Amino acid sequence: MNAINEVFDLAVIGGGINGAGIAADAAGRGLNVVLCEQNDLASATSSKSSKLIHGGLRYLEHYEFKLVRQALAEREILLKNAPHIIKPLQFRLPHQPHLRPAWLIRIGLFLYNNLARRVSLPASKGIKFSHDSPLVSNITKGFEYSDAWVDDARLVILNALSAQDNGAIIKTQTQCIKAIREDKVWVITLKDSLTGVISFIRARSIVNAAGPWVAQLFSDAFSLKSPQNIRLVKGSHIVVPRIHAQPEAYMLQNADQRIIFVTPFEDDFSLIGTTDVEYKGEPSDVEISDDEIDYLLDSTNAYFKKKISRADIITTYSGVRPLLDDESVNAQAVTRDYTLELEDLADKTPILSVFGGKITTYRKLAEAAVDKLSPYFPNIGPTWTADTPLPGGNFDNIDLLTQGIKKEFPWLPSALRTRLIRSYGTIIFALLNNIDSIEAMGFCFGADLYELEINFLIEHEWAINVEDIIWRRTKRGLYLSMSQVAFIQQHIDKHPSVVERKSLQNKKTI
Ligand SMILES: Cc1cc2nc3c(=O)[nH]c(=O)nc-3n(C[C@H](O)[C@H](O)[C@H](O)COP(=O)(O)OP(=O)(O)OC[C@H]3O[C@@H](n4cnc5c(N)ncnc54)[C@H](O)[C@@H]3O)c2cc1C
Repeated sequence: MNAINEVFDLAVIGGGINGAGIAADAAGRGLNVVLCEQNDLASATSSKSSKLIHGGLRYLEHYEFKLVRQALAEREILLKNAPHIIKPLQFRLPHQPHLRPAWLIRIGLFLYNNLARRVSLPASKGIKFSHDSPLVSNITKGFEYSDAWVDDARLVILNALSAQDNGAIIKTQTQCIKAIREDKVWVITLKDSLTGVISFIRARSIVNAAGPWVAQLFSDAFSLKSPQNIRLVKGSHIVVPRIHAQPEAYMLQNADQRIIFVTPFEDDFSLIGTTDVEYKGEPSDVEISDDEIDYLLDSTNAYFKKKISRADIITTYSGVRPLLDDESVNAQAVTRDYTLELEDLADKTPILSVFGGKITTYRKLAEAAVDKLSPYFPNIGPTWTADTPLPGGNFDNIDLLTQGIKKEFPWLPSALRTRLIRSYGTIIFALLNNIDSIEAMGFCFGADLYELEINFLIEHEWAINVEDIIWRRTKRGLYLSMSQVAFIQQHIDKHPSVVERKSLQNKKTI
C-alpha cells in the first residue's frame, strides 16, 4: 500500500471521451489533475460509437433543437482542431416516400443547414441516383448532406495527451474503488487492474466520468445515492468488406422508423450500424445478438445491389450508451443530451458527475464541467480548447503536410504514409525521428505495423496490451491474422516498460 502527500485539484474517474476531455480542459486551465481509467483509455463506449461528429439529423424528429445546434457548431471546431483524425463526410439519404415524406426531410435538412454557422461543410441538396448507383434500381431519388467522421478512440488518446502536456497524470489500468471525504479533501483508493496493488491519492474535487458505470460508482465507491438515473442502451455495429466504391456514407431509413448508417471504413470496409436495444447487464459484457446481426444485414440488403450475409462479417462491436433517463418509452427516443450534476458538502470537496452526452459535444461538455468547478478554484484560467489544436492537429492543410512528409521521409511507402498521417498528424515527426529507411522501422508484424510504431505507442500513448494497439491506437486488427496478433502480444510483453508496469515491484504509483 502507498500513501502520498500531494493533493490534486481534480481527480477524474474514467478515461472515455468525457473524462479525457475534462482532464484536458482542466489541466490547460491550470488545475493539477490526475485521471484514472480502470482499463485502457477509450476501452468502453468511446471506441464503440458510429464514429460520427454529427449534428444528429434524426434528433430533430425528437425536437432536440438545442442539442443539434450545439453539435452542428462543434463539427466546425473539431474539424479545425483535429484535421488528422476528423474529416468531412458526405451522407446520402435514399428517399422512401412511405417512410418519411420529402417535405419533412427538406424541412429537417433546411434546419440542419441553418441552425449553426457552416464554414467548411457544403449545404445539403436533393440528388438523383443513376443506373450505376450501388442502390437497388427502384431507388432513384434522395438527399445529400454533410457531417464528419472521427477516429473516436484516437480522439480520447489525443485529449489524454493534451492533458498530460499540461501536467496531468494519466493512470490507465487503475480502478477507483473508494472515495471518502476526510479533512476537506477526497481520499481516493485506487486498485491497479494489472497487479491488484492498492494506492491512495488525495484531491480537492472529483469528476465522475465513468460512463455506463456513473451511477454504480456512487453506490460502490462513494457510498452516496446517485443524483440521476442512467438508462443503458446497447448499440452494435458490423464490419464487412466494402459494399460500394463511393466515398460517401449512406443513411438508411427502416420500416421501424429507425435509421442506420453504412459508412466507408479504413479504405477496404463498410461499417454498418447501429441498433438501439435496452440493456440491463454489466456494461463490459455487452455483445451483439443474433437479432441485431439480422437487423443490420436485412436493413442493408433492402437498399444495396450487393447483398451481404453473416459469412461476410469481418468483426462486430457493441457499446452501451450511458443515457440520461428521461423516461422515454423507446430506447431510440431517449435524449442524447447531457446533464452535469454537482454535489458538495458545505461548499467543499465537490463531486461533479457526467450523465449522458455524445462524442460530438465532448469539448463543450468538458468546458461546462470545468466552468461548474471553477468557483472552487479562484485562480483557474480561461477557456481555451475552442482555438487550440489537439496534439498532431497543428497544421492547416493535409495536402501540404503530406508534401512535407514526402520530402522529409521519401522512403516511406505511400499507403503507410497516408495511414500514419491520418492517425498521428504532425506527431509523425516524433514517431519517425531519426528514422531514414523502412528497415530502420524494425520488424513488420503484418499489415504495415512495424516494431517502431508499437514501441512508440507503448512508450508515449499508454498501450500495454495488443488490443490497445490493434483496435484503439490503430485499426490494424482488421487486417491481422490470429498468429500475427499473438506475436505482437509476445513482443509487447517483452517491452521493458510493460514488464515493469505489470510487475509487483516498484509500485509507488504517484
Ligand atoms: C453504438 C453507439 C454509437 C454511438 N455513435 C456516436 C456517434 O456517432 N457520434 C457521437 O457523437 N456519439 C456517439 N455515441 C455516443 C458516445 O459514444 C458516448 O456518448 C461517449 O463515448 C460516452 O463517453 P464517456 O466518456 O461518458 O463514457 P465511456 O467511453 O464509457 O468512458 C467511461 C470510462 O470510465 C471507466 N470507468 C468506469 N468505472 C471506473 C472506475 N471505478 N475507475 C476507473 N475507471 C472507471 C470505464 O472503463 C470507461 O473507459 C454512440 C454510442 C454508442 C453506444
